[in-house]
Amino acid sequence: MEKSKIKLYGDPVLRKKAQPVKKIDDRIRTEAAKMLEIMRKARGVGLAANQVGLLDRLCVIDTNRGDTKGEIYTLLNPVIIRNEGKLKVEEGCLSFPELCGEVERPAYVRVRAVDLEGREFEADAEGLLARALQHEIDHLDGVLFIDYLSFAKKLLMKKELDALKKLSKKR
Ligand code: ZN
Repeated sequence: MEKSKIKLYGDPVLRKKAQPVKKIDDRIRTEAAKMLEIMRKARGVGLAANQVGLLDRLCVIDTNRGDTKGEIYTLLNPVIIRNEGKLKVEEGCLSFPELCGEVERPAYVRVRAVDLEGREFEADAEGLLARALQHEIDHLDGVLFIDYLSFAKKLLMKKELDALKKLSKKR
C-alpha cells in the first residue's frame, strides 16, 4: 500500500507558521496540483501545505460532498477579513484520522486570497465552506482543531492522540 503523504498529529511541521507565497511559479503550481490529488484520494474537504510538509501559505478546498454541489478552491495567502455569528459543528482533520470534536467558529466569513493566476479575490462563505476555510487558514498558522476542544474532551482523546504521535514519528 502506498504510504499516505499526509502528515499526522505529532509531526512538528503542523505547528509551524507557513510563509507567504511571493511568487507563483512552477513549484507552487505543481505543489497545488499534488495537494488537490492527495486531498481527493483521502476524501477530504480541505488540505493545507503544512499537512504535506511544506510551509507555503497555500491550501486547497473541495466542498463536493455527497449530494451537495460544491466548488474547488486553491487559495494562496488567504486571510479572513470579516466574520459573523457563531456555530458549533463537529469537525475532523486529515492529520487526525478517525478523530473529531465540536468546534465553535464564526458561521460566516469573508476571505481574501490570491488564485494560481496571481489574481486577488474575495469570497463570502457560510456552511461547510466557511468551516473549511477557517480550519485550513488555522493550519497555515500552526493551529489545529483540537486546540479549540475542552480539556475534558482532549483527555478523552488522549489515547488516540498519543498513538498518532507515535505513528507520526515512523513516517
Ligand atoms: Zn485539518
